[in-house]
Amino acid sequence: PDSRFDVVVIGAGAAGLFCAGVAGQLGAKVLLVDHSEKVAEKIRISGGGRCNFTNRELDPRQPHKHFLGENPNFCRSALARYTPSDFIALVRKHDIAFHEKHKGQLFGDRSSEDFIRMLLAECAAGGVTHWQPCTVSEVVHGSEGYVLQTGRGTVRAPAVVIATGGLSIPKIGATDFGYRIARQFGLRVVTPRPALVPLTFDGEAWAPFAQLAGLALPVRMETGQKKERMAFDEDLLFTHRGLSGPAVLQISSYWREGTAIRVDLAPGTDLAHDLLQAKARSRKLLANELAQWVPSRLADAWVQQDPAWQRPVNEASDKSLQQLAARLSAWELVPTGTEGYRKAEVTAGGVDTRELSSQTMESKQPGLYFIGEVVDVTGWLGGYNFQWAWASGFACAQALAAA
Ligand code: FAD
Repeated sequence: PDSRFDVVVIGAGAAGLFCAGVAGQLGAKVLLVDHSEKVAEKIRISGGGRCNFTNRELDPRQPHKHFLGENPNFCRSALARYTPSDFIALVRKHDIAFHEKHKGQLFGDRSSEDFIRMLLAECAAGGVTHWQPCTVSEVVHGSEGYVLQTGRGTVRAPAVVIATGGLSIPKIGATDFGYRIARQFGLRVVTPRPALVPLTFDGEAWAPFAQLAGLALPVRMETGQKKERMAFDEDLLFTHRGLSGPAVLQISSYWREGTAIRVDLAPGTDLAHDLLQAKARSRKLLANELAQWVPSRLADAWVQQDPAWQRPVNEASDKSLQQLAARLSAWELVPTGTEGYRKAEVTAGGVDTRELSSQTMESKQPGLYFIGEVVDVTGWLGGYNFQWAWASGFACAQALAAA
């Protein structure tokens, strides 16, 4: 016989697990299905294995500060109804110790596994039926609601929640399932693209900097012009193929192909002034003087770009010192691309928010809901993406229980 549920949640990641548990505890008969062998692999690898589960600086009244998408205000209602404090209370209830790191980022003290165990316990408390691994090959809608063909037989339910995430990290189970279901039901999808991702540069032009692989330093990084301008003060990491580190991951979400990024490699200094002062008192090589303000490996590589910089500082012209300072504090470069979904922490774009209710996450197709990363809501690095997964899952669960 066919299985019958009040709701089928597809995808047992952050959003799906949380939504299933809440809906179950509110009284819904929930089936949670995921095709992967392992539960919530993305939570497991998140935050370097410690899960940066939320961010204290999130302000639901100003979602555009930490979220992007075609309508950054879409997430306001859900974020206001389920806040970082709400999730922190749940984490405390489960006795999971955590600490604050950088800029409001909260991490578990021990391991991401603690959070997966917590979410599974919440599902168990809600009496959720959990089939994993189990594939879903078809979702159709008829006069009696939804009919799903799964690896464990036919399932019927009046509501279906798509929580299958984005395209990032295909090797741990990411698929385009959510976008395909959206299109099947005539819902628009904002073209997905990798975000929170390292940027790459042309091999030849990059050659002088490839030797800096492994070097990290604090910078100010910018992209976009005028109203679109975004800037981040974070660490930059040189890699063999290009640039990574928090500054680059953040900028990558806003960067558009073919445009430039600008990097201040010595933020907070007046480098031209400082170099002219050094010239007045020192006979050291310019690279050695420069190493007062930037790492010496960078200073050495930087002066290689111009013979006028490869001499004692007192023998360099004022103009060449000014040029060096200007280049270093406004290094402009055009990435050739990104490291792609293989390395992207999230997928920007996704199910168009104009197709969804910001109160319930229900789409214009009645009974079909979308939550988490599959939606065109993308958070900054720092716990914002998980908070969106929890908040959208919560809003959806409440609507399901009320239905
Ligand atoms: P996911 O957690 O990706 O879950 C989707 C689920 O759907 C998966 O279990 C998948 O197996 C399943 N699925 C996919 N296709 C199908 C299908 N066809 N049939 C059945 N099931 C399917 N965010 C933070 O806020 N803090 C962090 O510290 C952080 N660290 C990260 C580190 C890395 C390396 C990566 C890649 C991401 C990180 N993120 C972090 C982002 C965060 O993990 C995601 O935004 C979040 O997991 C999205 O939740 P989700 O439930 O929408 O999707």
